[in-house]
Amino acid sequence: MTAPKALVAGNWKMNGLKASASELSKLNTLIQEKGAKCDVLICPPYTLINTFVSLNAKNVSIGAQDCHMNMSGAHTGDISAEMICDLGCEYIIVGHSERRADHGESNEIVKAKAVAAQSVGATAIICVGETIEQREAGQALQVVTTQVKASIPDSAKVENTIIAYEPVWAIGTGHTPTTGDVEEVHQAVRDVLQSRFGDAGRNIRILYGGSVKASNALELMSVKNVNGALVGGASLKADDFYGIISAYDKIG
Ligand code: PEP
Repeated sequence: MTAPKALVAGNWKMNGLKASASELSKLNTLIQEKGAKCDVLICPPYTLINTFVSLNAKNVSIGAQDCHMNMSGAHTGDISAEMICDLGCEYIIVGHSERRADHGESNEIVKAKAVAAQSVGATAIICVGETIEQREAGQALQVVTTQVKASIPDSAKVENTIIAYEPVWAIGTGHTPTTGDVEEVHQAVRDVLQSRFGDAGRNIRILYGGSVKASNALELMSVKNVNGALVGGASLKADDFYGIISAYDKIG
């Protein structure tokens, strides 16, 4: 069975100003000239989505980092999935651990946001991951599989759903799990997906995220059931991000 095509996705978080569009142009040119064996996505802050989409960078999809669960209404400061798609985005990250922690987003809220994203034709990138306390208590598998079960809607399909396993303690810290630990969690997520969605569950992409950089990308991306990366800090500069993308030149 062939693995699903990998996706290397950049989450810019609350970083980037108009001038950062030059990094997107540079990334697009790097891919144009040197190639990419994976799909490539950048999720800038909302303020840059229109600028980035307007650049028409053919080698890089543009997505958003979150959406509201409702399509419109009295939700001051929020942005709906419909508004995001209206700008030309194809992907929306939901349930990032920073949103779960900073905004109290439960699995139920994350699931509702995933449904909102899917309902307007976007692919929901649903994030899950354990804290360091949970890992040290031997609860990582149970925490992650519980999050996956409760955050994925029944409407999940290969075309509209991606899971991102991001251990909270690995995000922005420079620490990464062992490849054995990554494999164990990704296999557990795959098992949940297969038992719930059958064939589709075999092909829904599962990304790894947490301190991925050019120097560790090949090792992490080569792990079984790792179908790409969700990258924070190392996605901000085109050269760094392309270093991760190019790991796929060496992965069969
Ligand atoms: C993230 O924010 O999703 C992430 C993985 O960040 P970093 O790559 O900086 O650890």
